[in-house]
Amino acid sequence: MATEKKVVMVTGGTGLVGKAIETVATAELKRDDEEWHFVSSKDADLSDVAATEALFEKIKPTHVIHLAALVGGLFRNLKYNLDFLRVNNKINDNILNTSYKHGVKKVVSCLSTCIFPDKTTYPIDETMVHNGPPHNSNFGYSYAKRLIDIQNKAYHAQHGCHFTSVIPTNVFGAYDNFNLEDGHVLPGLMHKVYMAKKNNTPFTVWGTGSPRRQFIYSLDLARLFVWVLREYEEIDPIILSVGEEDEISIKRAAELVVEAMEFKGEVKYDTTKSDGQFKKTASNGKLRKYLPDFKFTPIEQAIKETCDWFVANFEEARK
Ligand code: NAP
Ligand code: GDP
Repeated sequence: MATEKKVVMVTGGTGLVGKAIETVATAELKRDDEEWHFVSSKDADLSDVAATEALFEKIKPTHVIHLAALVGGLFRNLKYNLDFLRVNNKINDNILNTSYKHGVKKVVSCLSTCIFPDKTTYPIDETMVHNGPPHNSNFGYSYAKRLIDIQNKAYHAQHGCHFTSVIPTNVFGAYDNFNLEDGHVLPGLMHKVYMAKKNNTPFTVWGTGSPRRQFIYSLDLARLFVWVLREYEEIDPIILSVGEEDEISIKRAAELVVEAMEFKGEVKYDTTKSDGQFKKTASNGKLRKYLPDFKFTPIEQAIKETCDWFVANFEEARK
């Protein structure tokens, strides 16, 4: 018996995570019974109900990976908490409700480990999302993301929908946002080292360098996303992360970028800049129960590949 074709729509399909999913879903993990559509804000402003409806009418997805969001690093979040809350609430509500109305069979949305409670025990796991207030630096983004999990449960309870979510740690890779003010730490450090090398100036890391992060390479995250879409049956979220033992300091991350870009100049720390959350160490125990043999790309290799991509694509890269 022929299986029905899946029509998978990826919102935020032109961003860091979307591009990585496109790379793996259309090549190494390609399946003939899936048709993939990667959409961006040019296809529809998803904060608008009518535009969202029109997009679903056009593509008629049976499955949705929902990535589209107002996204940014610590320093963008600190400035725009209200925008992060309002815009992301609108986008998420539109995607989930339109998916329900169109009978979409499965939606996988994207949360983040920075939405967990600020005051917590470690490691953090999937049961702790709503345990207490998030860190003050990004409370707008965090509450909007937490509400996705609440909506997933409510759509399941009231309508039997299969809407679920994943919780990645800090992502990096090709097609990231390398903007110095708005972006995340690794693309920011790569851009700064590039400029320091070019101008023969010092490379300045913001904050003390002591906070700790678990970084996941966008291609590894993409492989896991495709697995979640195809195989994961729970409504409850799943953390997609390297192990606790692979958490590194911002200082170590900066050293890896320096090594990958062969920068020989001075490295400075601007301690007047915020450190943000000290750590958000997450357990990947649940993921490991499902996929004990999944191999993450070594961080040295992933950082090197991303630096090489940034240098080769400097003109077109988002910055
Ligand atoms: P990104 O590179 O900034 O991409 C954002 C994507 O969302 C772009 O395709 C953008 O379209 C689209 N988008 C933004 N506003 C939109 C709107 N109003 N209507 C339609 N599309 C809109 O972000 P990313 O890093 O790939 O993040 C993807 C998902 O992963 C997000 O949900 C984010 O919260 C989550 N996440 C990211 C990280 C991380 O470290 N980056 C960590 C954990 C979770 P245009 O290209 O047209 O602007
Ligand atoms: P977070 O993980 O959500 O806090 O977001 P980021 O990816 O922006 O990481 C922020 C951490 O990296 C903080 O400890 C910052 O002080 C530190 N950091 C060091 N240099 C930079 C930089 O150039 N850009 C950013 N975004 N963060 C930096």
